[in-house]
Amino acid sequence: MQEILWEGVSHVLLDIEGTTCPVSYVAETLFPYASANLAPYLETHQQEANIRALIQELETLWQQDTDQEARNLLIHSEQCAQQSGVGKILPYLKFLIRCDRKVTPLKDLQGKIWAEGYARGELVGPLFDDVPPSLRRWQQKGLVLAVYSSGSIAAQQLIYQYSNHGDLRYLFSYWFDTHTGSKHKPSSYNLIAEAMGCAPQAILFVSDSDSELQAASQSGLQVVCSQRKTDKVKELSTYYPTINDFHEILLKLQH
Ligand SMILES: [Mg+2]
Repeated sequence: MQEILWEGVSHVLLDIEGTTCPVSYVAETLFPYASANLAPYLETHQQEANIRALIQELETLWQQDTDQEARNLLIHSEQCAQQSGVGKILPYLKFLIRCDRKVTPLKDLQGKIWAEGYARGELVGPLFDDVPPSLRRWQQKGLVLAVYSSGSIAAQQLIYQYSNHGDLRYLFSYWFDTHTGSKHKPSSYNLIAEAMGCAPQAILFVSDSDSELQAASQSGLQVVCSQRKTDKVKELSTYYPTINDFHEILLKLQH
């Protein structure tokens, strides 16, 4: 196993999918789970004020949706007026998921369904086995650990709370999602350095995405490409050092 030494690092910033868990987890497990549990979840919780508000928000979006398929679904649902609130909104929700439209009420709803799935033990955050011992080792050395993922902070915390290695949320001091900005924009990484109160050069960013690594590198962060053997082999990054396993990362602290 090769080892790469990083000097002057005080903070480690970690992507999730493709870096600490398989890239397929979201597409092949989380999204299908939310879709399959939409109807039962809404049936069970429809009397709750926040769920009623979410359904109402979705109904307004549907009324304003100019997509032809959404319009046809709306006309059809108005013709079947006997359907209840939950039954009525389901076709539109499934349409939004099919088109991968990332609208806020849908994201909120998916987050609530996942939270219930994790709490019931039906979902488990599948971290790579080398990740938890490496995180513990770095934290014990005094490094500050942070997450930056395009999933919401709530969804990130669920993966680490209900991980296959137990609740690991305590290891992280900061959580960032796209509210900080796109992972493909250098400015997001400057904002993260500012939020953590350190120089960009003191951060080591680990990700499987070349464009994320490029944006971080342009902001002055040190970067390393995660190339997991279990994930589909992508074209190897020619620009950045690459690791297959977190044990390959050796860190020399900033003093
Ligand atoms: Mg990734």
